[in-house]
Amino acid sequence: MKPRSAPEPAVCIQGRGAVGMALALALAHQGLPVAWVAGAARPPSSRPDPRTYALNAASRRLLQALRVWEALSEQPGVVTPVREMAVHGDRGGQLAFSAWQQRQEALAWIVDAAALDRALATALRYAPHVQAVEQPCAAPLQALCEGRDGETAARWGARRIRSDYGQAALATRLQADRPHRGRAWQSFASPAVLALLPFDGAAGPAAAGYGLVWSLPQARAEALRDAPAEALEAALQDATGGVAGTLRLADPDPAARACWPLRLVRAERWHGPVPEAALHPAGPRAPGVDPASWLLLGDAAHVVHPLAGQGLNLGLADVAALAAVLGEARVREAWRATNDPRLLDRYVRRRAGPTAAMARATDGLWQLFAPSQPVVAGLRNLGLGLLDHLPPAKRWLAAQALGG
Ligand SMILES: Cc1cc2nc3c(=O)[nH]c(=O)nc-3n(C[C@H](O)[C@H](O)[C@H](O)COP(=O)(O)OP(=O)(O)OC[C@H]3O[C@@H](n4cnc5c(N)ncnc54)[C@H](O)[C@@H]3O)c2cc1C
Repeated sequence: MKPRSAPEPAVCIQGRGAVGMALALALAHQGLPVAWVAGAARPPSSRPDPRTYALNAASRRLLQALRVWEALSEQPGVVTPVREMAVHGDRGGQLAFSAWQQRQEALAWIVDAAALDRALATALRYAPHVQAVEQPCAAPLQALCEGRDGETAARWGARRIRSDYGQAALATRLQADRPHRGRAWQSFASPAVLALLPFDGAAGPAAAGYGLVWSLPQARAEALRDAPAEALEAALQDATGGVAGTLRLADPDPAARACWPLRLVRAERWHGPVPEAALHPAGPRAPGVDPASWLLLGDAAHVVHPLAGQGLNLGLADVAALAAVLGEARVREAWRATNDPRLLDRYVRRRAGPTAAMARATDGLWQLFAPSQPVVAGLRNLGLGLLDHLPPAKRWLAAQALGG
């Protein structure tokens, strides 16, 4: 009997990160045959990702629909809800949010980055309509989810505008000597931004764990990444003023810390034609076959400062938007190919505005707290205090962060 060949994929997804994997699952749920470029088997990394992600309600809804959230929350300590959040300025300004005030179950959910990747990869193994391939293959739509350093997008003509903050974010896990009670804490101390994200970990709530994200001038961040544990703990105690009790590194080994250089990136355009030779090295495509298109999602399209913990939330919102556009078209405009410019423009219309607004908000906050002139410092702290007494403005801010 002749073996049945897999149907030609409607979308080929390049990107092994959370956005690429979530996209493969979301499109497969719409019944679209997809190829996901898993690449050749790689040795497991000796440095696990120490990040904890703050995911908003919209990201949680998407992961629930993909049946990934359930798998995550079944594991002890991998998901921790944030019930309260305090933001401190550098001259006494303060802003406080609570889930109860916002009439929400939680302000965000803190999720282990490595566990999220594992849960997505496991779901992909069992997903129908997903073909894991080693190399990019021909498909009308090439979805590029390669992250901030992806090279295919640049090779295929996607121009991205980029500015460096001159800072790096240091991430690791901490243990405090008192329970976190679901409270996140963030301080803006020009030019540093430090966030403590409550995270139970395998030991449960009594272990009083936190994920640390500390944005600092790059040289300082790298020095602290490589510093002896006692030096980093002393610097942390100094920066937090004991707000979370005495903080210790969960793992004193510097391999349990990592630094990411920070930049603001936005794509000039989100889709375009794949160069003729790129996927067909054997020659031009058959007459009458439309050229394939590339489309950007996640950090490949936009990178924002992590001070608001929104990068992955934006990427997952891209996934939800593209899956909705292609899913709706399958029902109402089945004659359109997945790279029909009308569909791609619909996706861009849904995503370009919210993404640009979040980039402006995070960049504006960073700019506001970057200079150290006393007048600016006084005004920004006054602004935080005023905002704290304006419930509608606070509700609006919280709604933006929660993803609606
Ligand atoms: C310190 C820090 C803390 C953060 N905290 C938060 C947070 O709390 N909440 C939040 O929402 N966001 C947060 N972010 C942002 C978040 O990490 C990113 O937005 C998110 O990881 C982007 O996902 P991605 O899949 O688009 O890209 P990536 O995570 O970069 O994944 C892309 C992957 O694709 C691979 N790849 C590249 N080229 C190819 C190719 N040709 N084929 C196949 N694979 C390829 C790459 O190696 C990489 O593994 C944080 C970022 C930092 C630096």
